[in-house]
Amino acid sequence: MSFENLNLNPSLLKAIAACGYTEPTPIQAQAIPQVMTGQDLLASAQTGTGKTAAFVLPALHRILSTPAKPGRGPRVLVLTPTRELANQVTEAVRTYGKFMRIRSGAILGGMPYREQLQLLDRPIDLIVATPGRLIDHLERGRLSLGRLEMLILDEADRMLDMGFIEPVEKIAAATPANRQTLLFSATLDARIAKLAGNLLKEPATIRISPKQITHDNIEQRLMVADNLGHKMKMLHSLVSNDDLERVIIFSATKRDTETLAQELAAGGHTVRALHGDMTQGARNRAITDMRRGKVRLLVATDVAARGLDVTGISHVINFDLPRFAEDYVHRIGRTGRAGAMGIAISFASPSEQGFLGRIEKFTGKQITHHMIEGLEPRTSMRTASAGRSPGRSGAGNGGRAAAGPGRAPGKPYSNRRNEQAAPAVYRKKFAAK
Ligand code: AMP
Repeated sequence: MSFENLNLNPSLLKAIAACGYTEPTPIQAQAIPQVMTGQDLLASAQTGTGKTAAFVLPALHRILSTPAKPGRGPRVLVLTPTRELANQVTEAVRTYGKFMRIRSGAILGGMPYREQLQLLDRPIDLIVATPGRLIDHLERGRLSLGRLEMLILDEADRMLDMGFIEPVEKIAAATPANRQTLLFSATLDARIAKLAGNLLKEPATIRISPKQITHDNIEQRLMVADNLGHKMKMLHSLVSNDDLERVIIFSATKRDTETLAQELAAGGHTVRALHGDMTQGARNRAITDMRRGKVRLLVATDVAARGLDVTGISHVINFDLPRFAEDYVHRIGRTGRAGAMGIAISFASPSEQGFLGRIEKFTGKQITHHMIEGLEPRTSMRTASAGRSPGRSGAGNGGRAAAGPGRAPGKPYSNRRNEQAAPAVYRKKFAAK
């Protein structure tokens, strides 16, 4: 299958070629022809599968191939749960639409109203929005959705989790009944089925199953930790290795994100925090610094990192295991993007045993145990994969870089930092836990 077979407008094919894509991903190959028939679509696909292009390309094709109705407001509306994801979709629209004339824009919370009002005042082809701010404009009568042709919900499961269901249904109710609706979600559970039942008409369904997307090009590793101090020592040890070129470290709370970032900065690393309490400007700066290679480490919460698309992330480290298995898949999908290899390392303490079980059940994959020489855990965890011999530096596994963070074979991994006690700042900040 090639993009030429999909009968997309030549200006889109030119943009795809400029991106260097040689063939459509499975979700693109299945969704694009389906959307081009005009039928509604319910698709389960996670981030990292190429799902953004799977809806942006046919949406742009529609804008190019059918005349616009007169009036104000967008022809295509993409709703996303977070601003980061909205920015990423906006960027994709810019990339794939760069050889066509298109008026597009974003309507996001935390941004000035003035520019948004100017945007909404004129005919516009495509808007990417978060539901909260859009409903605000709608309720104040500043947004007309009367000529909308296509409504796209991206990461609908996350929108449900974040309580956006009411605004989404209100927005949909303000659009023409004959619109085409596409719903993308990481999972298709009963809640999504109910939402789909309300919003979609006889949709085609496409499933890109989690097994297909817990990518073969991401090596998943588990490191058992005795406690927080042990996790911190392992983190310091890992990030001290230059093989970790660009790293996203996930932690459970906004406060821990800040604490870890400070701790790593004190250790001489270039690092930024990324969490939902930061202003939009600060969040954008952190992502841009990572993209441009100004910082090597980004410590993030799940919500802030959703949809984050930075190429060249060599490693993801889960300082804490996520509570939801879906989040695990999202997190590790930050690495191994666009065909590159990636390594995802998860720390797990005995109290996180339940989360680990759920993740392994969801992905259908056992995560292999690894250890860092000199930092072996005293505790063990009974997991599906615990019975296998753990990877360990110099532990008779044929010299495979099992315990190292992707080091070249033969390159020693252990380092002196392993011997250090948990750093003082860290001990103090986490003492209350
Ligand atoms: P997404 O799942 O939409 O977040 O996309 C994941 C990454 O895959 C993005 O960095 C895209 O630029 C890239 N991508 C999308 N489609 C293709 C393709 N057909 N071939 C190679 N890379 C792609």
